[in-house]
Amino acid sequence: MLKKKNLIFVGAPGAGKGTFSAMLLEDHPMAHISTGDLLRDEVKRDTKLGREAAGLMKEGKLVPDEIIAGMVRDRLAQPDCENGFILDGFPRTIRQAELLEEALSSLGKSLDRVVYFKVDDDTILKRLTARLNCKKCGKIYNKLFMPPTVEGVCDVCGDTLYQRPDDSLETAKARLEVFYKQTSPLIDYYRDRGLLFEISELDKDKICAALTAELE
Ligand code: AMP
Repeated sequence: MLKKKNLIFVGAPGAGKGTFSAMLLEDHPMAHISTGDLLRDEVKRDTKLGREAAGLMKEGKLVPDEIIAGMVRDRLAQPDCENGFILDGFPRTIRQAELLEEALSSLGKSLDRVVYFKVDDDTILKRLTARLNCKKCGKIYNKLFMPPTVEGVCDVCGDTLYQRPDDSLETAKARLEVFYKQTSPLIDYYRDRGLLFEISELDKDKICAALTAELE
């Protein structure tokens, strides 16, 4: 059982938030709230929000704070969040962090830890542009570092793998810039609140060990 289970994962796109969420969830049932996944689902279902978000996502820009925070607030109110949650990719601005604080306190919840995955820019760009995702089960692969057994096919469910349109080199660079300008101030914000746990390892097993030791 994890002692610390209301979590935020923060880091540049491709830093490992999704990969290590999946790893933690294998042994610890808790809600995984990826705002990127929620938005991609809205786009797929062609909802009003999805149509508004699609253009911004394509350019690597952020969806407005109030919209995304409302979406997360509704998700946090669902019963599966009682066992704990990982917020993956939210908050991404100080304003979102403030809205999250309001939402959590109105739900009688609080944060236990903010895990910051610190990865250098070269590695980020290499990882993003080689990333592959399974459309059906969401498993994340990487052509260079974590390839599937059969090229283009998901090991878990056999579906076809695809590259996210915003993982092109041009959009990946734009997203990295957005991270430094708008999201990285959150690192000091949470450090000042005594909530930050920083991991600057790149080795997968070492990251898993550090993460589990910190949260157990
Ligand atoms: P991700 O899958 O987390 O890399 O998110 C993909 C895209 O969705 C981002 O580049 C943004 O356009 C949008 N997005 C995801 N999370 C947020 C957020 N917390 N605030 C604003 N936009 C977001």
